[in-house]
Amino acid sequence: MDLSALNPAQREAVLHIEGPLLVLAGAGSGKTRVITHRIAHLLERGVEPEQIVALSFTNKAADEMRERLAKMVGKKRAEALVLGTFHSLGSRMMREDPKGFGVPKRFQILDQGDVYGIIRSLLREHGYHGPASKRRFDLGAVVQRISLWKNDFLTTAQVKNIISSNDYDDIAAELYDAYEDRLRSLACVDFDDLVCRIASRLQEDPSCKKRWQQRFRYLLVDEYQDTNTAQFQMLLELLGPERNLCVVGDDDQAIYGWRGAKVANILGFDVYFRDAKVIKLEANYRSKPPITTCANALIVHNSSRHDKELVPKRSGGEKVEVVVTRDGPMEAKWVADKIYELIQGRRAPGREIAVLYRSSRQARAIEQNLQEHGVPFRVLGGQPFYDKKVVKDAIAYLKLLVIPSDEIAVRRALDTPSKGIGRKTIERLDAWAEGHGKRLIDAVHHVAEIEGIGGRPRHALERFSQQIRHAQADAHQSTVADALRKLLDEVRLRDSVLKDTGSGKVTQNRWNSVEFLLASVGKFESRAWDAKTKPKWGEYLGNIDLKKKDEGDQTPDLVTLSTFHSAKGLEWGNVFILGVEEGTMPHKRTDAPRLSDAISGDIEEERRLFYVGITRARDRLWLTRAATRVDRGRELEILPSRFLEELPDEDSGVIEHCDLREREKLTTETMEELAGAFLNQLAGVQNRPG
Ligand code: ATP
Ligand code: MG
Repeated sequence: MDLSALNPAQREAVLHIEGPLLVLAGAGSGKTRVITHRIAHLLERGVEPEQIVALSFTNKAADEMRERLAKMVGKKRAEALVLGTFHSLGSRMMREDPKGFGVPKRFQILDQGDVYGIIRSLLREHGYHGPASKRRFDLGAVVQRISLWKNDFLTTAQVKNIISSNDYDDIAAELYDAYEDRLRSLACVDFDDLVCRIASRLQEDPSCKKRWQQRFRYLLVDEYQDTNTAQFQMLLELLGPERNLCVVGDDDQAIYGWRGAKVANILGFDVYFRDAKVIKLEANYRSKPPITTCANALIVHNSSRHDKELVPKRSGGEKVEVVVTRDGPMEAKWVADKIYELIQGRRAPGREIAVLYRSSRQARAIEQNLQEHGVPFRVLGGQPFYDKKVVKDAIAYLKLLVIPSDEIAVRRALDTPSKGIGRKTIERLDAWAEGHGKRLIDAVHHVAEIEGIGGRPRHALERFSQQIRHAQADAHQSTVADALRKLLDEVRLRDSVLKDTGSGKVTQNRWNSVEFLLASVGKFESRAWDAKTKPKWGEYLGNIDLKKKDEGDQTPDLVTLSTFHSAKGLEWGNVFILGVEEGTMPHKRTDAPRLSDAISGDIEEERRLFYVGITRARDRLWLTRAATRVDRGRELEILPSRFLEELPDEDSGVIEHCDLREREKLTTETMEELAGAFLNQLAGVQNRPG
């Protein structure tokens, strides 16, 4: 390994092997580089790749790390590393050792949508959400509370002691146990279980713990500032007697407090591990000076932080441009035009351009404008590919073909596209299945024997049963991909998507997602047959469950659209940040009980988010905002973000303001005036004597 690619502090971190190590440093200072080089160094010293666990925050970041390592240590060894997220590590451990972790052999991982579905039905069962009650609840608020409690290892009894009297707290506490029971009866785990369950079982079962500690000898964690209590606990339990733990992070980039991350994990690391080695990296290798100056000026306004400053290694650089447009559409158009110019003028390839924003709904206008220019892009965060409704519908049908025992998939397929099968009918099917010790899908196939289902629903169920049986036979005879395609046609999923309201382009795009899925199913299948094995569908679907968190298109030259949250750890030559406005950045939480809470909720976390956004840029940065926006049909005046005032002013020479509010007028009314003035001037020149 080439140690000269590292500065002395980085080198020290790479070479320090025994005992806990913390690298605490600002954005772009080469923390992730320390992780990859440290892994390469361990491999060079003869450590087996299977013994090294490196955890990153997203699957995408982990994939990037693996790619970099493949170049350094070869593909084979890079593939053998245990490299992923806390969740993917947990899922892997559970699959390998279901007994040890107390889960059924063929457990399924629920995604967010499934969790919402379960909570929705529990609310109804507990009399909260149905026609019996007129009150409506924010499902997300309940789901989030349960998740936070799980991650803090709180039991129902403990929760009841700490909650304030708030509707959502009370309801979530009431449903907490029922929710856990439901997961068990469905043979499912949720995302949180992938970490909490691992941590608690390791703690309870010394022999299981010993096994895993012997298996994983070196632990490395990137983005450590955003670990939560359960993840910290999981690390502690995995940490063997050699205590080889290396964590890297930046307290200024802690942006998941709202989801239970504890910045105390990084700030208190050397208190918890008394003998920890702490290394700070001072230089910023990523960004040009105008960008680091802005980032520094912003982040000093936070009070609870380690004092540190980004000192740029690079020099020069164009000013950061702050652009104000008249309204939202003009902002989107300006950004898309600028991107088009950059690409057309060969000043930047698409993959070196990113548009970042606070919440995913801000992406839509940009998407449309880029589409019109024919500029290809990918969207990170927000609604990932596998979370799209139509894709999830198609996956439910895939599951009917390959694991028909999946209850959730059967329920989803019964419901979409709508077949005229109502809740009462499903209840009858459930009752029959329970009475006969069978599964829901069996009930569907036995509808003829079930009393109380007649007319249209019965007809629909018979048809559905037949379609499934045919498709299963098809899958046997030809391929699952072909059978699935036919089945989706037969149940009219394609029709239901294409006839949906909205512009043709959008619905076609939605169907393209299904085509993408079909292609991926086909590829997976043929790869298995090529290797002369049967396709392991459980694995394929398990991967989907994890990937959908941060799916990105694989084609290389794409412009990236991303939330700040999903952009963490990544970098681009050119970055646009949209909506630098009060209410957007800092974000106004719409579910906050009072308006004052809505913004001041956690202003420091909002500032850190903006800081993460700014520090993604290597060469050029644009900050845009609109002066007005339309909200529910009303045009509102929008204030600039308070964070803009915290940046250096124009005299500093690192920022340039650009006001486009009057631009459109220039092309209409003012054009005539300007033309007149020009002609007058011309006349003046001509009339000048001499
Ligand atoms: P973040 O906090 O955003 O995750 P980071 O601290 O992990 O940033 P890296 O992504 O590792 O930083 O590095 C930032 C950039 O600086 C990368 O392009 C990397 O290749 C480069 N870099 C890091 N260290 C060095 C070095 N010693 N010499 C030259 N370039 C470096
Ligand atoms: Mg990093």
